[in-house]
Amino acid sequence: MAVIKQDDLIQSVADALQYISYYHPVDFIQAVHEAYQREESQAARDAMAQILINSRMCATGHRPICQDTGIVTVFARVGMDVRWDGATMSLDDMINEGVRRAYNLPENVLRASILADPAGKRANTKDNTPAVIHYQIVPGDKVEIDVAAKGGGSENKSKMVMLNPSDSIVDWVLKTVPTMGAGWCPPGMLGIGIGGTAEKAAVLAKESLMDSIDIHELRARGPQNRVEELRLEIMDKVNALGIGAQGLGGLTTVLDVKIKDYPTHAASLPVCMIPNCAATRHAHFVLDGSGPAQLEAPPMDAYPEITWEVGSSVRRVNLDTVTPEEVLSWKSGETVLLSGKMLTGRDAAHKRMVDMLNKGEQLPVDLKGRFIYYVGPVDPVRDEVVGPAGPTTATRMDKFTRQILDQTGLLGMIGKSERGPIAIEAIKDHKAVYLMAVGGAAYLVAQAIKKADVLAFPELGMEAIYEFEVKDMPVTVAVDTTGESAHITGPQIWQKKIADKSLAVEVE
Ligand code: SF4
Repeated sequence: MAVIKQDDLIQSVADALQYISYYHPVDFIQAVHEAYQREESQAARDAMAQILINSRMCATGHRPICQDTGIVTVFARVGMDVRWDGATMSLDDMINEGVRRAYNLPENVLRASILADPAGKRANTKDNTPAVIHYQIVPGDKVEIDVAAKGGGSENKSKMVMLNPSDSIVDWVLKTVPTMGAGWCPPGMLGIGIGGTAEKAAVLAKESLMDSIDIHELRARGPQNRVEELRLEIMDKVNALGIGAQGLGGLTTVLDVKIKDYPTHAASLPVCMIPNCAATRHAHFVLDGSGPAQLEAPPMDAYPEITWEVGSSVRRVNLDTVTPEEVLSWKSGETVLLSGKMLTGRDAAHKRMVDMLNKGEQLPVDLKGRFIYYVGPVDPVRDEVVGPAGPTTATRMDKFTRQILDQTGLLGMIGKSERGPIAIEAIKDHKAVYLMAVGGAAYLVAQAIKKADVLAFPELGMEAIYEFEVKDMPVTVAVDTTGESAHITGPQIWQKKIADKSLAVEVE
């Protein structure tokens, strides 16, 4: 009978969360690298280059792959013969103590993103607790744990449906994936749960994402059941949509499709789909009473040596002198290097600013002629100016965009993923511009930030308004002053190219 110490479990959870904050799973790195090598869309290739460079930098620098260090999800399989040595805490409390220890580790502080009272005060719990924990009681004398840190951008794109038993699951997936936009930071994986009840399908979908990428082996050996057929069919048909890395159009949107199923009622066909993003983070360990789990670092040769050059003809922009006339010539899809000062602000800061404008109050910062970066950075450690600071999903700011442009004279916005129709119309009407940075390349983006000062709303923590001074921060013009969106034209072009040329979207 294994005797497991409370602190071994706590430390193992903490170590695993630190580990996944800076190490991608090796299978994921390999899959992105293969997709990068075969990608024909330059925009998608550039995005994947940044994701791979960022991954290597995080592995060597031991800093988070993404500024959103996620909500912790745990699947625990607890052996019925396990005995706990002097445990004073519940298993939930032990896991949460591990989360607390990991997220507040001084050498690699992770971002605390969890808010209590979600329908009310939305107050940050400050240590990223509590985790979402699922248990199974199984035969044996070990404790097996899968731990994941799931980004909000991809979790927000989860979809659920109760289909009729005769409906096509593939049709529903193909209709639904384009509605998810790029806020889930593709390339990534789709986890699909089929059957059971509504809540069972959701848990199955999430649990399926704990597995490694192995669609190559499945393709090589051939499908042996309906679920395996579905995995291949969905993967090929989703990739043929041409959405591509970061939604900019390209050959690879998903690197694998995972499916778990469960028997269901004769009247029902519940399906839940949860995407995993460019910051796919999960680890697996077993406690058998011999001490805390030891997770081996991936070998450095698992990380491809990618170089990414923007080229000498790239447009360089000085944010301190840029004018409305200058941005008129920027074209959707174009790469731009930003230098100078920009402001930051995301959900809570936008809500505050709009509330102030509605009351006729003066904003604490002047937005006229400025650019605002939608970001919530990780706190800095050692000599960092700021921790990893990649973009957050811009669509959440869409509802504020027209009023902010109307009433402040803001010139540009920087975020990730597409803008919705109301924001695009407002951008076009004001001859403003929306730029996109790569989601999931947060540590790389942070290297361009040379200075960071909090200017307003310090009580909002990572959601405060900062002023960043940047040098050569790479972005793509995603919506230009005419309202042309790279997230609309890119996928349209690549979907057609794939259909016309019958480009094989198969993973070899
Ligand atoms: S890669 Fe994108 S979706 Fe994933 S955690 Fe980062 S910002 Fe969120």
